[in-house]
Formats: sequence, C-alpha cells, structure tokens
Amino acid sequence: MDTERLDEFIAAYPIYEYRIIDTREIQVYERVRTICRIECPRYNSTWACPPAAGTLPECEKRIRSYKEALIFSTVAEVSDLMNMEEMLSTRRAHEEISNAVGEFLKEQGMEIFILSTESCDICQRCAWLDNQPCRHPEYMHPCIESHGVVASELAEKEEMEYQLGGNTILWFSLILCRKGNMPDGK
Ligand code: SF4
Repeated sequence: MDTERLDEFIAAYPIYEYRIIDTREIQVYERVRTICRIECPRYNSTWACPPAAGTLPECEKRIRSYKEALIFSTVAEVSDLMNMEEMLSTRRAHEEISNAVGEFLKEQGMEIFILSTESCDICQRCAWLDNQPCRHPEYMHPCIESHGVVASELAEKEEMEYQLGGNTILWFSLILCRKGNMPDGK
C-alpha cells in the first residue's frame, strides 16, 4: 500500500484515526457469532449479517485472503446518545467515507472488501428476507462483527481511541486489501 498517497487522501476527510494492519493480527471469535445469534435483532435479517455473511470459517478465510487491512474511525456528535435514530443517522456519513476510501484503494490497484458499522439498511426490506440477491452489493458492507471480529479489541490493540466520551460516537470500518491486477497503463 502506498502510505504516502493514502496519508494525503485521508487528510481530506474527517477521519479521526487510522492504522494499516497485517490481517494475521485480526482475531475471529465464535463468541461474537453467539452474541449475534442470541442478542442481535438484525441476525438473519440482512445480507450484511450472519448467517448470510457466511460461516465463521468462511469469514476467517476471507479475512486471511487479504494481506493487509486499513482500520479507521470517524467521529460523530449527537444531542442524545440514547436516541438510536439520531445515532444511526450519523453512520451514513461514515459509510460514504468508507466508500470513498474504498474507491481510492481500488484506484491504487488494490482489491478490497469493506467491513463496516452495524448492518446494512440501504433498502427498507432486505432482499435476504425474500430469498433474493442483494440489490446493491457494491454498497453493502457487512458489519465488522459479522466476521467474528471485536472492533473494540482491535482498536485497543492498535492503540486507537474507542470512546471519546460526551455525546460523541466513533464509527469504525475495516477495509481488507490485497494487491490486485493493475489495469493496463497503471
Ligand atoms: S443493499 Fe438492500 S438487499 Fe443488499 S444487504 Fe442492504 S438492505 Fe439488503
């Protein structure tokens, strides 16, 4: 990864912190799947969550098939942290930044796979519920936890802030990257 160009690109966005990590550092836990299954209302309701995201061994294999990952956070401020609607509305800006960073990495000749925040809510009713393929696979990013990864643990390991206090939220994305076949002329 060309870190100099990445630094320059990222400086133009309100990205709070980022790190480039070796995917061998990313741990995958069965217990995260258990929490998804037992506690999350989104389980089995979108293409972005288990079981649609794949079995845990499949998800781990996907992670390891990429050499590096870019983990980054953006910060949002809300008037009330308990207002879930307001909180979730701020994640759209984060998703747009995730897409922009992903596009930049692709332009640099990387193959990427984006894991992001929460589950996808692009469509009012996810096609998963009707046994139909995802309508926007290019914009649908499975959440980090769907792959058994604990975002807070990864952030702590990388000495990144996970909570800033007050009425702020840190959203995280994890973009898996590997060198792709460069288009002609690049
Ligand atoms: S884009 Fe639509 S169909 Fe695809 S995962 Fe998101 S909500 Fe479901």
